[in-house]
Amino acid sequence: MPTLSTPPTVIVVGAGPAGLTAAIALVRQGIPTLVVERRTAPSPFPRATGVNLRTMELMRAWGLEQSVRSGAVAGETTGWVGPTLVSPDGTEVSMGFPSAADAALLSPTTGIIAPQDHLEPVLMEHFLSFSAASVLVGTTVIGFTADQDGVIVSLRQGDERSTVRAAYLIGADGARSTVRRHSGIPMRGPGELAAYLAVVFHAPLAEFVDKPLHGLYMLTRQGPPWVFLPTDACDRWAFSMTWDPTRETLADYPPERLAELIRSGAGVPDLEVDIAWVSDFAFTAEIADRYREGRVFIVGDAAHRMTPRGATGMNTAIHDGYDLGWKLGWVLRGWADESLLDTFEAERRPVGLRNMERSTHSSDQRDVSKDYLDDIADRVPHVWLPDGHTSTLDLLGDGLLIMTGPGGHAPLPVPTPAIPVVVHVLDPATADALHLGVDGAMLVRPDGQPIARWDVSPDASIISSAIATLGVAVGEHTPVVERAELVLG
Ligand SMILES: Cc1cc2nc3c(=O)[nH]c(=O)nc-3n(C[C@H](O)[C@H](O)[C@H](O)COP(=O)(O)OP(=O)(O)OC[C@H]3O[C@@H](n4cnc5c(N)ncnc54)[C@H](O)[C@@H]3O)c2cc1C
Repeated sequence: MPTLSTPPTVIVVGAGPAGLTAAIALVRQGIPTLVVERRTAPSPFPRATGVNLRTMELMRAWGLEQSVRSGAVAGETTGWVGPTLVSPDGTEVSMGFPSAADAALLSPTTGIIAPQDHLEPVLMEHFLSFSAASVLVGTTVIGFTADQDGVIVSLRQGDERSTVRAAYLIGADGARSTVRRHSGIPMRGPGELAAYLAVVFHAPLAEFVDKPLHGLYMLTRQGPPWVFLPTDACDRWAFSMTWDPTRETLADYPPERLAELIRSGAGVPDLEVDIAWVSDFAFTAEIADRYREGRVFIVGDAAHRMTPRGATGMNTAIHDGYDLGWKLGWVLRGWADESLLDTFEAERRPVGLRNMERSTHSSDQRDVSKDYLDDIADRVPHVWLPDGHTSTLDLLGDGLLIMTGPGGHAPLPVPTPAIPVVVHVLDPATADALHLGVDGAMLVRPDGQPIARWDVSPDASIISSAIATLGVAVGEHTPVVERAELVLG
């Protein structure tokens, strides 16, 4: 077993989207973080392809927007329903993403169609660019013990076993989470709803299908629809259909039979099809009773399973990972006390529950077209600053942000000895767009969630009280601006 150059403060189990996002949020704050991943190579199945608006905002904040976008399918974040892929009788449907025009009003970025097997390496490369990062691949977490001082995690790599200690453990180890099981956290919900056969194939389908491509094609047939997804910028597609694993096995679907099914779904009888990979998966909907057991947290699919409907599984996992990562980083840096960690489950479990429940409905059972609003409802609105390329969201950093109207006192007395607080005096138009009066001010968390708004410039004690709600100790009435910067608008 390799030795670690830096003893980890946090161990993250699983290098999927949830684990990597949590790990990045921690190492960006300098917290020594070890990711343990049992796989040695990426999954051959692209899985999620819908990367939503809020996820892309996080990627933008980390400077990863272009890298993620470079793996995108050239197409729209819309769905399509029709009898075959090439039929002229199809209808465009919403995938729960905003139109390009709506996205431009709401955000400095847009959602995209990009496969999970492109996103994960981008996240891993970014994680490993930090000196606080370490990773063990081909290594399985087989158990752990936890007490009030920390965790001791048991690892298996080949025939070798070892243990590693840390202050906290994050289970981002997917639907069959070992961490969740060892924590004794039960799951509830409808459970398994349908069984699907999943096929990854290469075919020059883009030559036959109308442009721009859609992110999802649902073929109307007798019974449940067949689904086709473009999964890269070239010719790789995924095809899935319901099947009955109690009566059939994968051996009943040799490549030639699958190729025929794909040709008939495509509506292109002589389509050249190269089957790359076949497997099965279940549409499952359930959620963990709780997201934390002492020093152990669970995020992503380990905490909730949702069907692919609505494209929320990976996005919710990423938002969980980010939420826990910044909060745990704050606590470990001594910026906030443990009470901040209680807000992880309080804020994220209702989102997991909502998305899990929504994913049990098919697209003809509920209108998904405005779902994207829920992910951005709690953050400050996006407004372009006068320079035309900086968004209000770009003002957010590791610490706290105070945005004031043009008449705001700058620098405000910012009474916190530990946390960097950026004070940004807005121009009149931006302040107006945020409904901040000339003397108004707004205190904002690093994830963009406003903590407090004031119509008149707040004094130090008012700011102290607002900051204290985050579990941050502040010197009462001590107008210290230590480590704070002033950014002028
Ligand atoms: C067909 C399909 C289509 C989908 N489409 C979408 C979509 O369009 N949009 C969307 O948002 N979501 C979609 N999803 C869901 C999405 O893929 C998952 O929600 C997402 O992968 C969850 O990420 P995660 O990091 O929580 O877990 P995972 O991606 O499952 O990662 C868990 C990681 O932990 C590792 N691991 C597990 N146990 C251990 C252990 N004991 N020790 C060490 N490592 C371990 C695993 O190897 C894995 O790498 C889709 C899923 C499927 C199956």
